[in-house]
Formats: sequence, C-alpha cells, structure tokens
Amino acid sequence: MEDGKLKIAVIGAGLTGLAAAWKLSKKHDIIMLEKEPFLGGMASSYIIPWDGKEYKITKTYHHILEGDFTTIEFIRDLGLFDGFRKKKVKQGFIHRNKIWGFSTPIEVLKFPLPLIDKVLLARFILLDSKNQDWNKLKGMNAQEWVVAKAGKNNFDTFFDHLIRNKFQTSAENISAAWLGTRFFKESSSLLKKFGWLEGGIDQIVEGLATEIKKNGGTIVTEAKISEIKDGKVIYSDSFGKKEINVDVIVSTIAPELLLKLTTDLPKDLEKRLRKIEYLCCACACFGLKEKFNLPYWSNVLDKDKPFTVIFNHTTLYEDSAPSEKSVVYISAYMSKENSLWNKSENEIAEIYTNAMENLIPGFRVLIEWRKVFKVENAEAIYSINFENPPVSFKNFYFGGIYRIYPKIRNMASALESGLEVAEKVENDFCV
Ligand SMILES: Cc1cc2nc3c(=O)[nH]c(=O)nc-3n(C[C@H](O)[C@H](O)[C@H](O)COP(=O)(O)OP(=O)(O)OC[C@H]3O[C@@H](n4cnc5c(N)ncnc54)[C@H](O)[C@@H]3O)c2cc1C
Repeated sequence: MEDGKLKIAVIGAGLTGLAAAWKLSKKHDIIMLEKEPFLGGMASSYIIPWDGKEYKITKTYHHILEGDFTTIEFIRDLGLFDGFRKKKVKQGFIHRNKIWGFSTPIEVLKFPLPLIDKVLLARFILLDSKNQDWNKLKGMNAQEWVVAKAGKNNFDTFFDHLIRNKFQTSAENISAAWLGTRFFKESSSLLKKFGWLEGGIDQIVEGLATEIKKNGGTIVTEAKISEIKDGKVIYSDSFGKKEINVDVIVSTIAPELLLKLTTDLPKDLEKRLRKIEYLCCACACFGLKEKFNLPYWSNVLDKDKPFTVIFNHTTLYEDSAPSEKSVVYISAYMSKENSLWNKSENEIAEIYTNAMENLIPGFRVLIEWRKVFKVENAEAIYSINFENPPVSFKNFYFGGIYRIYPKIRNMASALESGLEVAEKVENDFCV
C-alpha cells in the first residue's frame, strides 16, 4: 500500500463489480478483471442494427421497481435522470394455453377462479404482503404462508407455479420472507408504475465504466484468471500471461466460480460458500415486425411450456424498437441438469418459437431477428434457512447476488452490494 492507496483487484464487471470499483477507484488503484468481452454481466446489452438505426437492448428484460432507490440514485449520479421514465404497465397470465389479462377489475373477474379466491387474493396483495416485518417470517416456508393467508386454491393456481418457475423447486423449500419481499415490491409497482430508462440500461454500465477509467482504474475484458494465491492474481488476456500483487480482492462472481480459482479460504467458509446453489436462465429476445398485443408481463401457469414468462418490452421501453415494431423476451429459469440448458442458443430460440407459435399462431412470421442469452449463475436459491455469507475474510471481500437475502435480486441490490463491499474495504483499511 502506497500513501494509503490500496491495490485492489475486482473480479467480475457486472453491476456489483462496477459499483464497487466505481466507489473504490476514487481513492485506490483498481484493476477490474472480466472474463467476457463485454461489461455488465446479466445487465449487458445487444447492439442491434435495425431499420438503419442502432438499438442497445438489454439481453434480459430490465425494469425498475418502486423502491429501487439505489438504481435511481445511480441514474441520477451518472447524469441520466432526464431519461428516467415511469409508466403504468399491465400484467397477465398464460393459463390453459390462453392469454389472460389480470390488470383491470373486469379482467380479474373474467379469470377462471372462484370469486371467494379472488377476494382472498386481493386481500393478500393489498394487505398481507405489505407492512410485514420480514424477519418474523424467517424459518417459515412460502407455501405455509401463502396457504394460510390466500388459501390453497390461490396457492395451487398461482403461487405454486410462480415459485417453481423461479426456483425449480417446491414452495416448501423456499423462504416466506423472500416471497414476501418480492411480492411486496412487484405488486406495489404493478399497482403504481414501472421505471425505465430512455436509451437503455447499457448507459448505467457504460457510465460506471467511464467513471472508473476517469479515476485511473483499469478494466480488462476477456481476462482468464487461473489462480488467486497469497494476494497474487494470475490471469491472461490478449497480451499474454500476467501476475499482479494486490492488497485486496473483491470477488463479485458466484462462490462456486471463485472456489475454482483459490484455495486461500478456510475450510468452514469454503463449505458455506459451496452450499449456495444457483439457477441458470435462458432468455430469448425477439425483434418483431409488429407491435404485439400482450400485457407487459405475462407469467406462465401452464406446465407444458418450455418458458415461464413473456415480457412485451416495447410497451415499457418505448424507444427499444422502430415505430410499429417491438421487442419481446421469452425466458425460463432452470437447473444445469435441465435438458434445455444443454442446448445451443439456436436450438433454444427454435424451441421457444415453436411454443409461442402454438400459443399465438402466426408468431413465427413476425420475427425479424432473435437472440438467446444463457446466464449460468442467474439466481441464487434462497432456501428457508438461507444465511448471507460474510462480507470479508482477510484480504478477500465478497459482493453479489448471493449476499443480498432477503432482498430480491435486481440491479438495485447488486449496486447496493457493490457499495457495501467498497465501504467495508474503506472501513477496514482507513487509518
Ligand atoms: C432474466 C433476468 C432478468 C432480470 N430482470 C431484472 C429487472 O427487471 N430489473 C432489475 O433491476 N434487475 C433484473 N435482473 C437482475 C440484475 O441483472 C442483476 O441483479 C445484476 O445485474 C447482477 O449483477 P452482478 O454484478 O451481481 O452479477 P453478474 O451480472 O452476474 O456479474 C458477474 C460478472 O462476473 C463475470 N465473471 C464470472 N466469472 C468470472 C471469472 N472467473 N473471472 C472474471 N469475471 C468473471 C461475469 O461474466 C459477469 O460479468 C435480471 C436478471 C436476469 C438474469
């Protein structure tokens, strides 16, 4: 350490890593190592030339919910606030191979469910999922909580599918506190408005990267780290093999990936980190030659579909396609064992296209382009007794979506985790 300046390696240039590096680069020497050729991880974007213009479209849908204050603060700090917009969006369900709107009282009345269950559901959304002290739900599973508050029929019709869609496991294994925080945030936003950013989310990623470089930080893409040992990081990039000595390592990658790079962590911590399991996600993005008559957000309740959610992106991100055209995401979470995960991007696009054609005949001919993004560590599974691992051990600092429980995994919690890790470094080393 020279003049109180630390040499810090930040592993991973997703939003957690970018937020941590941005804060730390104001005072310290930062080197960010990212394995991909692009920045932003799950929040990275495609550049799509479309009708003579270039569109930057996130590889996965990215809305900003009520209470995502940190995302909004970053938008403000990066000088992007003029482009921050809010909009009321509609939601729906895919049920028995039909699309059901679920946003207006008439749509809710038309949905095939007994009236008493609709009343219980409304009470659950409007009352029970709010004003909760989520810590009181710790140790309780999501099924117990929903059945007690919204009734078995609502659990079977909606929540069982929604939880399985998200975690590929029964609601008995998932924490009620997690479901509560998620439901509270999403239902309040659906009742109010969703946020979006004109020009796309890539501006946050690029904005942070520009600031880091301005502060003297270095960002290396396509960095292949082979080992982290005794404060030494060994990696190779397009210029060859490098070995750097650092005071601090900030890891923002999934624990299972970090453990492949280092044996410097004690056995008990290693064991704890190894227990954190993730789901993968295959998210397809379709450019369509027409506007698409679907709610912004449709959850799939049918078990026979290969995907679990559809987002009609252009109904929120109005500038994401040429006028009269649209962008639609079709996505599913899955385990690595799922046969879909082991298929190529093209095969997944074809499987999703066929299933969409079955749901909405004529879908295929609307497609102008399609892309699939496979995210290996898309969501940490918050089981009932999930405990966040510690933020640091010796010169290792940990940030990312496996440390944010019971908050939901989104841009805000990733940015917060990056800031938290940066503050911890500052506090530990301030003289
Ligand atoms: C389908 C989907 C939809 C989403 N929708 C929303 C939404 O609507 N709103 C919202 O706010 N958020 C949304 N999110 C969540 C949001 O994108 C994430 O919470 C956030 O981007 C996580 O950032 P991160 O830096 O923690 O992780 P990541 O983005 O995963 O970043 C980790 C980085 O580490 C890199 N890396 C991995 N291994 C190595 C290695 N060995 N060496 C170097 N680098 C490595 C990866 O390439 C990656 O760039 C969504 C995510 C997904 C997948």
